Order: sequence, then structure tokens, then C-alpha cells
Amino acid sequence: MNKVAKIVLKSGKDSSLKRFHPWVFSGAIKKIDGYPAEGDIVKVYSNQDEFLGTGHYQVGTISVRVFSFDDKEINREFWKSKFDAAIQLRKVIGVFNTEQNNVCRLIHGEGDGMPGLILDYYNGTIVLQAHSIGMHRNRILFAEILHELIGNQLISVYDKSESTLPFKAETEIRTGFLTGHKLNNQVLEYGNKFFIDIEEGQKTGFFIDQRESRRLLQEMSAGKKVLNMFCYTGGFSVTALNGGAELVHSVDSSQKAIELTNRNVELNFGKTDKHEAFAVDAFKFLDEMQPIYDIIVLDPPAFAKHNNVLHNALKGYKNLNFKAFEKLKTGGLLFTFSCSQVVSKHDFRMAVMTGAAQANENKQNVSILHQLSQPADHPVSIFHPEGEYLKGLVLVKS
Ligand code: SAH
Repeated sequence: MNKVAKIVLKSGKDSSLKRFHPWVFSGAIKKIDGYPAEGDIVKVYSNQDEFLGTGHYQVGTISVRVFSFDDKEINREFWKSKFDAAIQLRKVIGVFNTEQNNVCRLIHGEGDGMPGLILDYYNGTIVLQAHSIGMHRNRILFAEILHELIGNQLISVYDKSESTLPFKAETEIRTGFLTGHKLNNQVLEYGNKFFIDIEEGQKTGFFIDQRESRRLLQEMSAGKKVLNMFCYTGGFSVTALNGGAELVHSVDSSQKAIELTNRNVELNFGKTDKHEAFAVDAFKFLDEMQPIYDIIVLDPPAFAKHNNVLHNALKGYKNLNFKAFEKLKTGGLLFTFSCSQVVSKHDFRMAVMTGAAQANENKQNVSILHQLSQPADHPVSIFHPEGEYLKGLVLVKS
């Protein structure tokens, strides 16, 4: 095996690592002693030769993703203790294999001290999405460790890194079973049933990060007419119906999403005339719909993936919220979200408030009832605040 390469940072470029931020940007590097390949383990040092951290090397803006700030051996035991800590945390939170919940995020990248790795748990199946080559290289080892720790409750580990790994990196297979051969694709979230399309669905198959907000909607839906915009798997539709909504309309531009939503509604309630789903563009639907809804949920895809489109994204959020707010009934609630990491909590709030204020022609009172974020199985490292990506508000128009 090659000697571990040593990355030496430029003078003055070591402060973020000393504060345990896990990324080394390419511009911070003074020199590399050795010839690391993409995905290799490297050690990072300051210009004064102080050890700073151990991480995975990659060609790109982020050159090293640090997973240990201690100079210790990176072996099976090292990884095992990380996975063990993450699983214990999910048990404490109460989302790992309980009677009500058997779907959760098991590893949330930096939030669990494992930058570049996402693991989602679906009732006995783990879906792995690697964002770094170093983490992907370890996939077989990780799968073995997960079986050791979870035991026979774990039936398969499925690699779904095709779309998350850098495009030009190695050519190995990135999608398929690492262990087992069956996907467990029906899960329980607070007792609600969901069918998950792991192979064809977006991300790992389900937006686990909206669990607590879906639950909040369930608590507030009794007797209401609810519009679930950008419904995807119909998560909010199912919880609204379970909460006693009088009527739920689900909208998504993707026909596949509409089929998934209908399937999930039927899974929980059989055939019901309280629910209808429409495959249509959100903006068109909002423009053409009647103002009949007591609750509108807006959970769009990320409008901005990069800082350079931030301005347009904020305009998009303002416009979307304007349209929804304009047609919300008096006494109605707006559940509105942004999952764009580059849009700050403050910017999102400003965009929503501006949209709502501009739509408030009748001079009604508008207040924020809830400020929402990602749930506890998507932890945010205090050393990596960028990990807080999901923002939500519940507004009332009274
Ligand atoms: N609320 C969902 C997640 C939404 S993901 C949940 O709880 O699971 C975003 C969804 O928006 C995707 O399903 C995508 O198909 C849909 N979408 C994207 N652009 C859209 C548009 N212009 N109009 C309607 N739906 C759109």
C-alpha cells in the first residue's frame, strides 16, 4: 500500500480545521507530499507541521473531507464506533425500528462525522448514497459492519450512488445490492404506511426529512380542505387525511409522483373520495385554482443549488408564496419550505414574508406560528453549520 500522503496547508489557512470544520478547499493547499489517488486517505497538516485531521482526498473544490481530528489509525473499529454511535442516537430519538417508525436517516454526512456518506434506513433495507469516492470505496466494509451492528433485522444494503458521485470519477458499478437481494419498500412513519420506490424514486426514495412537519400537519388538519403542492410520495397528503382532513388535493408535475401518491393514499385508506391528485405544474395550478383551501403545503424542490442562482431562487420563493397566500382562505394556514442549502433561514423568511405581505390586499393579520427545520436524525454539526438545509414556516392569515 502507498504511504499516506501528507497535505500541507498554506499559512493562515488552518483556522477552519482547527475549529473542526471538516472541509479542506483546494485553494488552501500549499503542497502535497505523496501521490494520493482520488478516495485515498490523507493526513492534513498546518504550515507549522501540526497535525490537523485525517480525511478522504478528492479532486475538486473540496480536496479533503475530514472524518477524524485525532491522529489515530483508521481501521474497521474506527468506522464501527462511528456507525454504532449513529445507530444509538437514532434509537434515543425513537425512530429506529419502533412500533410506529421504521424509517430514518442513519448517517447524515457531516452531522454524523462522516462527510460524503448518506445512509437511509427503510424497515430492514439500508440505502447508501456516497458523495465522495473515499466513502464509496468503503461500501462493502460498511455493509458488513452494519450487518454486525443491526443483526438479522437488516436484510439488505443497496448502493444508490450513481447520481451522487462525481461524474468523471472511477467507473465501477454504483447501483445495486451490496448485501441481500430484496428491498423492503414499505415503511411506517408515526404509524402511517408508505410504499417507497427505492430503485426509481428521487434521492434514496423518500423525503425522510419532513417527518416532523408531516406530523404537525396531521395535528392541524381535522375538518380542513388541504392542498399538498409538490406532493411526490404523498407524504403530507397521507398525514392530512389521517388527521381528519375533509378533502385533500395533491399536485406534482411528475405523473410517477401522482401514481405514488395515489398508491400511498390507497395503502392507508383504501379507495376514498376525499383525495384527488393532479399531474400539473404548480404555478399553473395555483393560477387557475379556486380559493377553497384552508391549508396549503408548499414543499418545492431546491430552487437554488448554487450561490450564483440565489437571486433568482429567492424571486421564485417569493412568487410561489405570493400565489399560494393570495388564494388561501381567511383563517387558513400556509406550510412553506425550502430545502436549498444556499438559501439562508433569513433569506427564506424574507422571501416568504414579502410574498405574503404583497398578497395581503385585504389588510389581514398574518403571523408565523411555527418555524420548522430538519428532524433530529438529520443532525447539524455545530462545526459545519452549512448542514442545516431545510427551513420551513407555518403562517396563519387571520
Ligand atoms: N413534499 C414531498 C417532497 C417534495 S420533492 C414529500 O413530503 O415527500 C419535490 C417534488 O416537486 C418532486 O416530486 C417534483 O416532481 C415536484 N416538482 C418539481 N417541479 C414542479 C413544478 N413546477 N410543479 C409541480 N411539481 C413540481
